[in-house]
Amino acid sequence: MRLIILGPPGAGKGTQAAKLVERHDIVQLSTGDMLRAAVAAETPVGLEARDLMARGELVPDEVVVAIISDRIEENDARNGFILDGFPRTVAQANALDTILAQKRMELDAVVELKVNESILLDRVNHRVSQSNGNARPDDNPEALKKRLGVYREQTAPLIAFYDGKGLLRSVDGMAPVEEVTRQIEGALNA
Ligand code: AMP
Repeated sequence: MRLIILGPPGAGKGTQAAKLVERHDIVQLSTGDMLRAAVAAETPVGLEARDLMARGELVPDEVVVAIISDRIEENDARNGFILDGFPRTVAQANALDTILAQKRMELDAVVELKVNESILLDRVNHRVSQSNGNARPDDNPEALKKRLGVYREQTAPLIAFYDGKGLLRSVDGMAPVEEVTRQIEGALNA
C-alpha cells in the first residue's frame, strides 16, 4: 500500500502514520525526520536546510524530491510506504507523479486530516511543554505561524489536486486519536 498523509503542522500526521505502519506493514517516510537527521549529521543537505527549517520555511523542492526518489526504492519500502510531510507543494506532487510512473508504482490513497486551525496552536504549545526543553527549533509560536501560513498557501492546494485524481480520503483530525485511526481505516477500506 502506498499512501500520503496530508494536514497542517500539529494535525497528528506522525501519530496516524505510525499506526498505519503497524497495521499495514509499510514504512513511514517523513521528509521532516530525514532533514532533521541531515541537519544533525551536518551533511551538505543539512547545512542547506537548517536555517530554512528553523524559520518554518520550506526546503527547495529539488532537495526533498531527490531524497524521496531514492528512499522509496529501498528494500524496506517494497511492501509500501506512507509519505508524511511530502509532498508539500504542487511542484513536489507533480514530481512525485513522474517518479512513481517511472518506477511503475501507484498511489492507493491520500489521507487528509481535517483540523480546526485555532486548536492547532494549543496542540503544538502542548507538544512544546511536554518536550522538557528538547523542543524542535521550529516548535515556537513564530515558526509555527509561518508553517501554518506556508501550509495554507503552498500545501493546501494539494487537497484539490488529489481530489481531482479520485485519491482523497478526508477524516476528522480533531477526533480522539483512536477515532481518527478508525476513520482512516474505514476510508481506506471503502
Ligand atoms: P515536518 O517535520 O514535516 O513538520 O517538517 C519540518 C520542516 O522540514 C518543514 O517546516 C520544512 O522546513 C522542512 N520540510 C519537511 N518536509 C518538506 C518538504 N516536503 N518540502 C520542503 N520542506 C520540507
